Amino acid sequence: MKIFCVGRNYSEHAKELNNEIPDAPVLFCKPETALLKNNEPFFLPDFSNDVHHELELVIRICRNGKRIEPRFAHKYYDHITVGIDFTARDLQQKQKEKGLPWEISKAFDGSAPLGILIPLNQLKRKENIHFHMLKNGKLVQEGETAEMLFNFDQIISYISTFFTLKTGDLIYTGTPSGVGKVLIGDKLEAFLEGQKLLHTEVK
Ligand code: ZN
Repeated sequence: MKIFCVGRNYSEHAKELNNEIPDAPVLFCKPETALLKNNEPFFLPDFSNDVHHELELVIRICRNGKRIEPRFAHKYYDHITVGIDFTARDLQQKQKEKGLPWEISKAFDGSAPLGILIPLNQLKRKENIHFHMLKNGKLVQEGETAEMLFNFDQIISYISTFFTLKTGDLIYTGTPSGVGKVLIGDKLEAFLEGQKLLHTEVK
């Protein structure tokens, strides 16, 4: 099973980190050991002093494919949820400055909490899906699919140009603005269309 992530997929978030708006999806991967399921707590790693939450929509691939055209891509995912792409922002900044890969700042153990997967056909509206996250009861991030620079179909098509997608693969589709530092004791709760699908406590 593979975990793909898209960076800079919401223009407001790209701006808040002073990144350029990309002309193709920015891709990176996380290993399976990054997954946190069943609302397990997130343990702050000792190699960073600035771990940020990035709330994202996550889709799950339901059939194998490569070189998928955008117009057929909707047939390749059938579940959706919210997830968090935890990022060691201080490490990422150092890697970026050196022109080195991001993995140590993005793909570490526990860096990918995953909510309960919902069948897409259970969603009342599919055109513009809304999601948000509370930190200690306060709204910190919200977004909707209409704000994405690259939609699900374009992302799937692009990924499958380079990588064969397989049933069960997950795609974290990028974060809207409002990312921020987490501290021990913080409680994060993430919602899809008003339904709470994920919570995790920082330990
Ligand atoms: Zn992200």
